[in-house]
This record gives sequence, structure tokens and C-alpha cells, in this order.
Amino acid sequence: RESNDYIVDARNITKDFGDFRALDDVSLQVKQGEVVCILGPSGSGKSTLLRCLNHLERPNEGAVWIDNDLIGYKEENGVLRELSSAALAKQRTKLAMVFQRFNLFGHRTALENVTEGPVQVLGVSQAEAKRKALELLKRVGLSDKAKNYPNALSGGQQQRVAIARALSMEPTVMLFDEPTSALDPELVGEVLHVMKSLAQSGMTMVVVTHEIGFAREVADRIVFMDEGKVVLDDTVTEVLNSTNPRARDFLDAVL
Ligand code: ADP
Ligand code: MG
Repeated sequence: RESNDYIVDARNITKDFGDFRALDDVSLQVKQGEVVCILGPSGSGKSTLLRCLNHLERPNEGAVWIDNDLIGYKEENGVLRELSSAALAKQRTKLAMVFQRFNLFGHRTALENVTEGPVQVLGVSQAEAKRKALELLKRVGLSDKAKNYPNALSGGQQQRVAIARALSMEPTVMLFDEPTSALDPELVGEVLHVMKSLAQSGMTMVVVTHEIGFAREVADRIVFMDEGKVVLDDTVTEVLNSTNPRARDFLDAVL
């Protein structure tokens, strides 16, 4: 495949769990700085697709390139070989993932959560990691919470620490899997606000979400998935006004 200007280039991904086809010939292309929201009913394959992008799941068919790097494999004398787990870990630093549950280290402060990756994985000095972490905590509005442990933070604050932690790895693209679904309604806005400012700063983002308001305001494109397939991949206006019956059923329930 020739080099191209897609940061995410997933082609013809099929993923089976036993007899069940969770993804059926799914392709997704995202350019630098684009924000793509993925919508779809529960079980339609959204999380599986994100997990295939960073090779947490290995597709049965198809391939993923991130910033023109084939994920999970390297070519040696024209033969594809699986990457070692160390090489895969290094490759994965290009993709940051933010989950529904924030998955912070419970026994570490907010600051320590944000310095861990750069020190352990990127080999950054403790002092430099700390300087950068404080900057990132400021960026997500949590300068005053650096010394707090996760259990002393609200869900919205924990998710913002998780976003700062994701940013600490200087990712090329950020993947969000329903980042506000586990939050109390009054805390959703503060997380969406941080995500919106990330989008405005030019971050390339793939966001699985049911927050249509966010999609409408921030997304360049919406992908609608159903039963393991991409049904629609179009501008926000086109998707929200789609007459596709399955998309209509879903959208009318959340709009
Ligand atoms: P979504 O995120 O859109 O709700 P998922 O990608 O989590 O959907 O799941 C798609 C389908 O694949 C679901 O039916 C789910 O039960 C199934 N699935 C996901 N992961 C596994 C797994 N590890 N083993 C078996 N089935 C799975
Ligand atoms: Mg999911």
C-alpha cells in the first residue's frame, strides 16, 4: 500500500468471535485533525472497532495503518511477521485510548498517573515528566488536584485526569470509547468541554459517543454502525438527516 495522508486507515476489517461476526468488512479513514464520531446501537461493534485500531483485538481479515505504520506487524523480506509485544507497545504510543471507566491507578495521585507513562514507556526524566504533567493537568482544569488520589476526585475529574494521562504520551490520534457514559449527568459537560478544546487544538480524534450535541458541534463526520457494519459515513448534516431506517430508529431515540 502506498503512503497516504490518513492518520487512521483501517481497511476491510472483519472480526469474528467464534461463530459471531462482530465486524463485517469495516473500513474507516481519518485525516490529520479530523474528528469522527461513531454512533450505533449497543452491540453494533463500536468498541471492537476501536480495539482493532490499536491491535487489542486482532482482526480476522483486513489491516490497520496508523500514520502509515501497519499496526501489529512488520514486513521482513516480503513476509508479514507479528510484532513483539515490546515493539507493539511502542507502536501503540501513537494511539491514546480513553475509556468509559477511567482506569486510573488508584494508589497514585493525579500527578503520578500522568507522569507514569512518559517515565516508564518513553524514558522521559522524572523532572521533565512532572513539568509536563502539571501543564497537562492545567490544560484539563485540574491544577489544584495534582496531589489528590482518584477516590478524592469526582468521575468528571477522574476522566479529565485520564485525558491528561492519554495526552502525556503525545499521541498522534486519540480514541474515546463512550467517555461520558459512566458519569453523572451534571459532570458530562466538563469532560465534553475538554474534548472540544482538544478538537480545536487540532487533535485527530475518533469518538464513540451518544452525545449528539457534541457530535453536531465538533465532529467533521459521523459514522453510523449497525450489526458490525458501517451503514453511514458522512457529514454530520447528512447522517443526522438520513432516511436509512435503522439509522432513523437509532437517531430518533437519542435526538
Ligand atoms: P458496541 O461497543 O457497539 O456496544 P461491541 O464492539 O462491544 O459493541 O460488541 C459487538 C458484539 O461483539 C457484541 O455482540 C458483543 O457481545 C460481541 N463481543 C465483543 N467482544 C467479544 C468477545 N471478546 N467475545 C465474544 N463476543 C464479543
Ligand atoms: Mg462499546
